[in-house]
Amino acid sequence: MAKPRTYTVDAVVLRRTDFGEADRLVVLYARGRGKLRALAKGVRRIRSRKAGHLEPFTETRLMLAQGRDLDVITQAQALQTFPQLRADLTRFTYAAYVAELADKFTFEGEDHPGLYGLLVRTLQRLTQHPDLDLVTRYYELHLLEAAGFRPELGVCTLCGAVIQPEAQYFDPRHGGVVCPKCAAKAPGSRPISLPALRYLRHFQRSSFREAARARPTAPVHREMETLMHDFLTHVLERRLNAPVFLQHLRRLENGLPPSAKADEGEVS
Ligand SMILES: [Zn+2]
Repeated sequence: MAKPRTYTVDAVVLRRTDFGEADRLVVLYARGRGKLRALAKGVRRIRSRKAGHLEPFTETRLMLAQGRDLDVITQAQALQTFPQLRADLTRFTYAAYVAELADKFTFEGEDHPGLYGLLVRTLQRLTQHPDLDLVTRYYELHLLEAAGFRPELGVCTLCGAVIQPEAQYFDPRHGGVVCPKCAAKAPGSRPISLPALRYLRHFQRSSFREAARARPTAPVHREMETLMHDFLTHVLERRLNAPVFLQHLRRLENGLPPSAKADEGEVS
């Protein structure tokens, strides 16, 4: 039998689940490759040297050996461990959400250019930035863009009219904003305040350095959080029915056992 092919990647640990007696299945987002599932053998043994390099949110350099079903992690060397995210429950919760979104919006074998850097920089920002909501909204908007689901915030998604600086409407089912004239034709639309619309547009179009100068009030933050949550939920539900998802399932059926059960664990 031929020697297994090995390769090296940098990747962020999104989550991991116990697998068999002493192993773990690790879900990673890898630079230049996208999402990847791999087996870490023996890492639940007390003396495992790899274990500390495969904690959730860690950016790690991996050597993998191609396996028949799953690739196997043969070496792991942490590049950034972000201890601040583990020392602070609030920051940990935001980081867990960021990792979960990266997991949910990507499929194995699909690389989204820009997403790896965005993910690493977002984890870095969550370690020290005072406004975690701002960091998270910025991430959501740019994740959606990288994954091909950019919300439209500049023109009405029904009539194409340029959105004016006045109270507008937002409808996830139409993919973004709806002008006041069209709102009656979009029963699922909800009002979006001018400050919330302005900030979201600003975050979408700006570098983080520019976006980070914004100081949204708490109510505007809550409004943006709700709007983005609705949008993300809608996209995820739609994606479950999309052909790409069916293709993905077929790929798994033809080659890799998806072991869906082991795939459902929480980040821990
Ligand atoms: Zn319109």
